[in-house]
Amino acid sequence: MTQVIEPVAVPAHETVPSIEGTSDKVCPLCHEPATTAFIKRGHAICDCPRCRHRFASLHREPRQHVADVYGDDYFTGGGAGYQDYLAEAKLWTAAGRRYARRLARHTRPGRMLDVGAAAGFLLKGFVDNGWDGVGIEPNDSVASHARNALGLDVRTGMFESFETDRPLDLVSIIQVMAHFVDPSAAVRHARSLLAEQGLCLVETWNVRSWTARLFGRSWHEYSPPSVLHWFSPDRLRDLFQEHGFVEVARGRPQKWLDGQHAKSLLRHALPKNLPGRLIGGAAGIVPDRLPIPYPSEDLFWSLFRKEPVR
Ligand SMILES: [Zn+2]
Repeated sequence: MTQVIEPVAVPAHETVPSIEGTSDKVCPLCHEPATTAFIKRGHAICDCPRCRHRFASLHREPRQHVADVYGDDYFTGGGAGYQDYLAEAKLWTAAGRRYARRLARHTRPGRMLDVGAAAGFLLKGFVDNGWDGVGIEPNDSVASHARNALGLDVRTGMFESFETDRPLDLVSIIQVMAHFVDPSAAVRHARSLLAEQGLCLVETWNVRSWTARLFGRSWHEYSPPSVLHWFSPDRLRDLFQEHGFVEVARGRPQKWLDGQHAKSLLRHALPKNLPGRLIGGAAGIVPDRLPIPYPSEDLFWSLFRKEPVR
């Protein structure tokens, strides 16, 4: 399947030559020189001393990074990605419906963009609840599934180069924020696409959660290079505030994985020693198609509203 990657503006901090230990360890949010907390899978996991953002240093140009990481293998290869993304259709659509119902407290259904729409399952949950939805997805194989199997308007390309002449009422960034090479550029672009008072819904992992603290560097979300940023709810709020948004709600999502995905993530995160192999082996009795509730203590969502320029 041909991968169509559209041109993307290279953020300023990525144009600096990346040399291990020097220029690549600059906080992508506040541009302060950062320190290395630990190394994971060959990537320096860095902490910003000023804004406390945690991020992975990246040595590649963003367009190439996206092409490398979000190939078909990401959706079917297991590891930090998905064992079989298409098998989780019902779970993702149910999540989209839950979010659409939650949003009904804040707005009526309007025109929305789902960022990183994959095969369109989450977007379908919103569409089922009255939203006029479009999606953007860098992987052409899964985007084709959304178009051909679900009849959804999911376009192949990168969010950073998505344009529309109709202002949006909602941009949903579910499980995508941590993957952006430049989150500031993404938030800025979301703002440019939204109508006044438009909403941006973000779901991502909480680096200050008890789960993340308990597991330390073994936390399953430390999986660079696909995951590059680990936000706290407050740092995410500050980032959106810096770009003219106000936070209107925050919570923890209900999340379900299918048995196969849960086992794949577990095996990816477990140490390769004997106890790790024993736990991984014992988990093998879980049926592949069994929905597993994910406790989601380390997940959060936030809803932001675009404020007028003062
Ligand atoms: Zn910073």
